[in-house]
Amino acid sequence: MSILLNADLHCHSVVSDGTLTPEALAARAHANGVALWALTDHDEIGGQHRAAAAAHALGMDYLTGTEISVTFADTTVHIVGLGFDPDNAQLAQGLAATRGGRSERAQEMAQQLAHVGIRGAFEGALRYAGNPELISRTHFARFLVETGVCHDTSEVFRRFLTEGNPGYVPHRWATLGNAVRWIREAGGMAVIAHPARYRFTANEEYALFSEFKQHGGQGVEVVTGSHTPSEYPVYAAMAQEFGMAASRGSDFHSPNESHTDLGALPDLPGQLTPVWELLSDRILRAPRTTAG
Ligand code: AMP
Ligand code: MN
Ligand code: MN
Ligand code: MN
Repeated sequence: MSILLNADLHCHSVVSDGTLTPEALAARAHANGVALWALTDHDEIGGQHRAAAAAHALGMDYLTGTEISVTFADTTVHIVGLGFDPDNAQLAQGLAATRGGRSERAQEMAQQLAHVGIRGAFEGALRYAGNPELISRTHFARFLVETGVCHDTSEVFRRFLTEGNPGYVPHRWATLGNAVRWIREAGGMAVIAHPARYRFTANEEYALFSEFKQHGGQGVEVVTGSHTPSEYPVYAAMAQEFGMAASRGSDFHSPNESHTDLGALPDLPGQLTPVWELLSDRILRAPRTTAG
């Protein structure tokens, strides 16, 4: 498969913090010309069978996906898993354990917001959560926009819910080693999500890439809606330095919030190995209709 394939291997549905169903995302991806798609809900694979069925009904190839929350060097890092067996028990258990504690964390976030005069945030955020086990900062952000506290979700993350601001509750997610192992042992490939988003020193970033590789991680997102175009060549060079495959995905969450639509990204820089080349035998191919 060509590096020029319109692959979108990162987005979110109502099963985590997106606003569209897996079926609506599949339709939107297909309408935008996506040929290979993956739904990567945070710490959840509950939408995988629906997503694959919807993709196949539209003639789109599908890779299973998830985005695991990891704590590394006291920072939250996201690891995307692609092409795993969606019925693998160890992966399901690991993700369930990673989801655990979100409700308590959300209660604490709401308490902090109450101290600065914002009442009812837990119940308010929960109304936006399609999956109560996955209540996230995004759902709080939607509540704060709806109630007029902020104009948009980026203002929320500038003023609230982030380190040093009201509503920030530190949390310990999965370890890097476990996240990579769950994905690999389920037959999939682990990919570092949006590396430019982490506020790492050069040394910390180097440690993330080398430890990730030692654990068996194989890919890195280069072209993503969470990077600026000037960051693409930086992580293209990192992929080459570490001998890693490159991934491409919009990180689409919602038509109202996401500035990068499904399938609307530049191609990967040409010298890289795309993750879909290494995953070719894990792709769930759409049934081809033979011309009669
Ligand atoms: P959580 O897993 O509850 O910590 O929530 C993390 C989610 O919040 C991410 O997956 C994004 O969807 C969203 N998020 C984090 N930072 C920002 C930001 N600066 N602007 C918009 N959304 C953000
Ligand atoms: Mn998200
Ligand atoms: Mn992420
Ligand atoms: Mn994401």
